[in-house]
Amino acid sequence: MTAPPTFTLFLVFLCSSLHAEGVPPTAPVAIAIHAGAGTIKRDELSSEAEAEIRATLEKAVRAGHAALTSGQPGVEAVRAAVNILEDSPLFNAGKGAVFNARAQNELDASIMDGASLNAGAVAALKRVRNPIDLAISVMNQSRHVMMIGVGAEQFAIEQGFELVDPSYFHTDHRLEQLRERQADEQANVKQDEAWYSTVGAVVLDQSGNLAAGTSTGGLTNKRWGRIGDTPIIGAGNYANNNGCAVSATGTGEYFIRHVVAHSICMRVAGGQAIAEAADRLIFDTLLPDGGDGGVIAMDPKGEIAFSFNTAGMYRASIDRNGKLYVGIYANE
Ligand code: ASP
Repeated sequence: MTAPPTFTLFLVFLCSSLHAEGVPPTAPVAIAIHAGAGTIKRDELSSEAEAEIRATLEKAVRAGHAALTSGQPGVEAVRAAVNILEDSPLFNAGKGAVFNARAQNELDASIMDGASLNAGAVAALKRVRNPIDLAISVMNQSRHVMMIGVGAEQFAIEQGFELVDPSYFHTDHRLEQLRERQADEQANVKQDEAWYSTVGAVVLDQSGNLAAGTSTGGLTNKRWGRIGDTPIIGAGNYANNNGCAVSATGTGEYFIRHVVAHSICMRVAGGQAIAEAADRLIFDTLLPDGGDGGVIAMDPKGEIAFSFNTAGMYRASIDRNGKLYVGIYANE
C-alpha cells in the first residue's frame, strides 16, 4: 500500500523541521585526545594540579565533540580540541611549549584528513600562536604538505595570521625544566624520567570521515633545528578512512624510524583490531628499541584505543555512545 501524497509531504516536512531545530543526527561521532605520556607519579602531582589537568582535558574533548555533533568536518573538530590544549600552559604545545637548547621555543604540528588523504604540516615555528591552525592552512590553502620556519611564518602572514612575539611561549616552569635538564646532562646524570606532553586529537565525524591532528614544542633541550615525529605524516600523525586515525606522543626519533602512526593503520586495514594494532607497535616495536610514549587511535567505526608504554598518559574521549572518559594514570 502506498501512502497518500499529502501524508508523504507531511512526513518530509516533519523530518526537515526536526532537522532544522537541531535534533541530534543519528550518525555516530567519536573523539579521543591526548596531552602527552610519561613518568606520571600519583604522589608527585598535587590534587590541584591533577584537577586542573583533568578539567582542561575535559574542556578540550567537549569542544571537539560539540564541533562533531553540530555537523562540522573532522578537521574542524580536531582544531577545536587542539586549540584549547595549545592555549593552556599545562601542555607542551602552543603556550606551554618546551625550550630548545638555545632557550627558544620551536613548534611543530600536523593535520590529516582521512577521506582525501590531504595533509598539512609545519615545523620550527617561533611566532605562530596555534600551530595546528597553520598546518590546516597549509593543507587547505597551499599546494604543499609541509612548510617550516621563516617561510612557513611568511605564509601565515599571507593567510591573515597575526604572529605573536616569541616571548608569548615563555613559561617559567619550562625554563626551569630546561636548566635542570642541562645541568643533569653536564653532570652526566642519567635521565631515567621521561616526560612528553605533546597534544593531539583523533575524530570520526558525521560523514564517517576520520581526521587526526598533533601539535608540540618538541623535546626539552633539543638541538636548534631538530624536528621530531609530530609534523611527519605517518610517524606522529596519520588518518586514512581505510585504516585508522592516530596521534602520537613520545621520543619522536623512534616514532619516525618505525613510522608508527602509519604502521598501526596498515595493521587495521589488514584486519587487526585497533587496540591490538596500537599495542603491538607501542610494546613490541618501540619498547624493545628504547622508544617511550604512546598513541591515541580510532578505527572507521569510531572504536577508540589508548596505548602507552609509560606510567601514564593524559587522555580523554567521548565515544560513539556519548560517554565521557578522562584518564591520567595507567589502569584507570
Ligand atoms: N613526540 C614529540 C617530539 O619528539 C615530543 C612529545 O611527544 O612530547 O617532538
